[in-house]
Amino acid sequence: MQRVNIHSRLISAIAVVATAAALASHGIWELAVASKTSSSTGVLLELSSATVLAAWLWYQLRHTQHDLRTTRTSLLTLPPPRPGFEWNDATARGRRQENPLHHAMILDSIADAVFVIDPDFRVLDCNRAAGVLLGRNNAELKGIALGELLRTQQTAALLEAINAAVTHAGRWQGELCFGSDQDIETETIFTPLTDSGTERLGTLIGVVRDSRERKTAETYLGYVANHDPLTALPSRSLFRDRLDQVLARANWQRRQIALHLIDLDNFKLINEGFGHAQGDQVLQSIAQRLGAAVHRGDTLARVGGDKFALLQTTLHRAEQAAFRAQHILDIVEPTLTVALARELNVTASIGIALYPENGLAAEELTHNAELALSRAKLEGRNAYRFFVHGMEEELRVRCALEHDLGHALTHNEFLLHYQPQVELTTGRVIGCEALIRWRHPKYGLLYPNRFISMAEENGAIIHLGEWSLREVCRQFKAWQREGLSIGHIAVNLSAVQFRYPEFASLVGQVLQDASIDPACLELEVTESLAMENPELATSLVNQLKQLGVKLAIDDFGAGYSALGYLKRFPVQMLKIDRSLIDELATSGCDAAIAIAVIELGHSLGMRVLAEGIETREQLDFLRRHHCDFGQGISFAAAMPPGEFAACVRQLTEVDNTL
Ligand code: C2E
Ligand code: MG
Ligand code: MG
Repeated sequence: MQRVNIHSRLISAIAVVATAAALASHGIWELAVASKTSSSTGVLLELSSATVLAAWLWYQLRHTQHDLRTTRTSLLTLPPPRPGFEWNDATARGRRQENPLHHAMILDSIADAVFVIDPDFRVLDCNRAAGVLLGRNNAELKGIALGELLRTQQTAALLEAINAAVTHAGRWQGELCFGSDQDIETETIFTPLTDSGTERLGTLIGVVRDSRERKTAETYLGYVANHDPLTALPSRSLFRDRLDQVLARANWQRRQIALHLIDLDNFKLINEGFGHAQGDQVLQSIAQRLGAAVHRGDTLARVGGDKFALLQTTLHRAEQAAFRAQHILDIVEPTLTVALARELNVTASIGIALYPENGLAAEELTHNAELALSRAKLEGRNAYRFFVHGMEEELRVRCALEHDLGHALTHNEFLLHYQPQVELTTGRVIGCEALIRWRHPKYGLLYPNRFISMAEENGAIIHLGEWSLREVCRQFKAWQREGLSIGHIAVNLSAVQFRYPEFASLVGQVLQDASIDPACLELEVTESLAMENPELATSLVNQLKQLGVKLAIDDFGAGYSALGYLKRFPVQMLKIDRSLIDELATSGCDAAIAIAVIELGHSLGMRVLAEGIETREQLDFLRRHHCDFGQGISFAAAMPPGEFAACVRQLTEVDNTL
């Protein structure tokens, strides 16, 4: 019995009966009617023979019979079987007689190549896909020895192995390479042709699947899994494999190697300040630059967001690792130009662990390089550090601090110390700088170098900065009420705060809340911050100027100084970095730079303040060269507010004696 599904948008009762009649006339007794309006479920109408007969009589009067007959006829006029198609299987032959087309049709509709192979390994027959795979005519393939189709040196041995496997295990499965002028890699299975699944008739069926596309896909997937898509550098997992291999070889060859972990400084700020697209560009450019530091046999990989690893394999002395690390710092540092012609300054910190001194296994070596990297970060970044024993404890403390920083503000653990700023010619206190401290319940009073960079990296600086700003204004107001005249109070800004879009309005709000004169507040920014994103910095500086607050460039001369930006900034004060003042007496060069900075500031209409004045000689030198103001322990160190007030009163009394 046959079953036919008919889809119809609207099935009228008459149509059903008419169709049923037509089908009945062709011996079809079951009719499945599926209406498109009632989805594909279909309604099976079992029509009784009486109904069908009645319908058939009615239908014969209509003229739709022709179409259905045509349909039926077309089913019976399928193409004949390919000539020469012979099955050894007697049962199959019987079935073929039953339906001569059946097997040929099935074989040709299989996407894999199928070969029927006789006991002498000659092709008896094959399907259409076999001809397509080998690029040959099917007729041409018939009778050909399988060995001639294979691309292998030891065909006889291979065929013997296939035969043995099929005989003993019932199948042979493996990779075969076909083709005479090209490599057609395949996965092939040979099984015996059996009668009712038991009797072996000596004929084999080979199912051959082209594996070239799969292999290409696997190669690609393998590449993707092992490489970073952004920089095309090996990924962490591939690096780990290479590290294991290199360590094994180094152990065998008794060689020294160096593992450099290279982490970009403040990369989070770049991502947050300029967006991830620009962050990605920075990573790509840095990866390219680092590529220039890779020698033959070395491996460079991207092992984290902004972390790279370099395996230096040709090493005879530890100094060579130091030399390479410095080279890396030097090639990372020059200004990068990213989209919209934006110029960015990126630096890196490097931790180095040496094999075999700092670890024999990959984990230990990596861990120790991480510790060295943390030390490089802690000690001001843009530096490299070798692993030394004891760093473990330091990192433990750092982790604890990082954790505690999260709640230090709500636990009221921060405080500000104030350092006087003095007019050099008169000794008069013209203002002070607020410097943050953290009274840690376990580690005591901590200085900013222990936690500011941490707070910048985890974003806590935004709240911390706002707290400093509010506290400074509150304190200033309190001193004003006490009648203490200080001129201005300076606060250090972090680059993160400076990039905060609402920063100017926050400052305005804080000043208003504390009701202090904006001119009494001085905001200190570092020059790297000002240069990093000149458009943003210029716009923010102008907004702050409109508020009436003063601005100072801090740590001027500490790093690379680009002077061009200075003329665009309405900055009132230039603070000469302590490192230049330190060497005034001993380094003619530093003295010359200090003099140049003083003159530069003056010529741009700024006042100049020297930081870190510790000796009488330094003070005399700065006075001689007309530096306006000074700050340093030669006057007073930073101190709590109560002590500061007392100190100012005392300094005011003795200023003329200096
Ligand atoms: P800075 O703004 O350049 O501050 C001057 C640093 O030099 C202070 O260190 C100060 O105590 C120290 N100093 C002052 N006079 C002398 C001296 O005669 N000799 C020596 N050797 N040092 C002197 P401190 O307090 O450890 O602050 C270090 C840095 O931390 C500051 O450098 C500033 O960049 C940052 N910082 C301090 N407070 C804050 C804050 O509230 N927010 C932010 N974002 N950064 C802050
Ligand atoms: Mg400062
Ligand atoms: Mg400074």
